[in-house]
Amino acid sequence: MRILLLLKNFGKISLMTDRDTKHLHNLFMIARDIEPMGSSRMAASLVYKNRVISYGLNQDKTHPFQAQYAKNEEAIYWHAETKTIHNALRLMDVNDLKKTTLYVARAKHPDQGPVSENEWVWGNSKPCSGCMSCLYKYEVKRIVYSMDEIGHYGVING
Ligand SMILES: [Zn+2]
Repeated sequence: MRILLLLKNFGKISLMTDRDTKHLHNLFMIARDIEPMGSSRMAASLVYKNRVISYGLNQDKTHPFQAQYAKNEEAIYWHAETKTIHNALRLMDVNDLKKTTLYVARAKHPDQGPVSENEWVWGNSKPCSGCMSCLYKYEVKRIVYSMDEIGHYGVING
């Protein structure tokens, strides 16, 4: 059961929509199935006019684009969000990024109870400060991220 979350940001209040739920759920399935980088399984997508333009995953690879937004030496490896933006820049006009929604989700094993390899729950995928500076730079309109095992989501209006 999903719970809608109201989150105040920049004086605006956003509600999750059915579309948001659909996109986040899709990312959760992708994140669950990828190779983890450390303990993180993160997947992001950029949506324009209800169409997914690009995807991105956390990756064990460095790149100059990621390095621009790395907040420390451990953040030089691709983050799902920056990878998604980088992929989108090859596919769409930079001005249209202002009309997009960035979704990001984390899949993880539950913190409590017996650990089963097959049991997955949502984890907090709030973008780090480095990713936020990238998303602000390109003026991404909305950012939707998974928050916790219960299924809360956060929405940021850029
Ligand atoms: Zn990040």
